[in-house]
Amino acid sequence: MRKRRSDKVRLRILKAHNHTCHVCGGKIDPGEGWDLDHIIPLALFGEDEESNLAPAHRKGCHSAKTATQDAPAIARAVRRETRHFGAHAPKREIQSAGFAPRPPQNRATKPLTKIAVDNRRPTP
Ligand SMILES: [Zn+2]
Repeated sequence: MRKRRSDKVRLRILKAHNHTCHVCGGKIDPGEGWDLDHIIPLALFGEDEESNLAPAHRKGCHSAKTATQDAPAIARAVRRETRHFGAHAPKREIQSAGFAPRPPQNRATKPLTKIAVDNRRPTP
């Protein structure tokens, strides 16, 4: 469970990171919206400790990191874990009713028989 950080702790982390966003590396200006981001997401067993927290711009950086890096990584980890523990239900093969046997073909001519063709080049 993530803890709610006090203003004092948020300021300490912001100062520790030299007022820079850990996603884009840009300066976080005073009054600009920023969040504390878990560097290693909690869902990937990152710790809810100050050492795993870094400031990130609220708009653009934090949400983009969550959507493009964290969420896919978490989804991959869940899939891997599911397969590891055998919880993944394999897809069932589609049972086909098959095709009805075709009716015998009526022919006006004799059925073709294979004709032996000599494809070898003529020897000089
Ligand atoms: Zn940023």
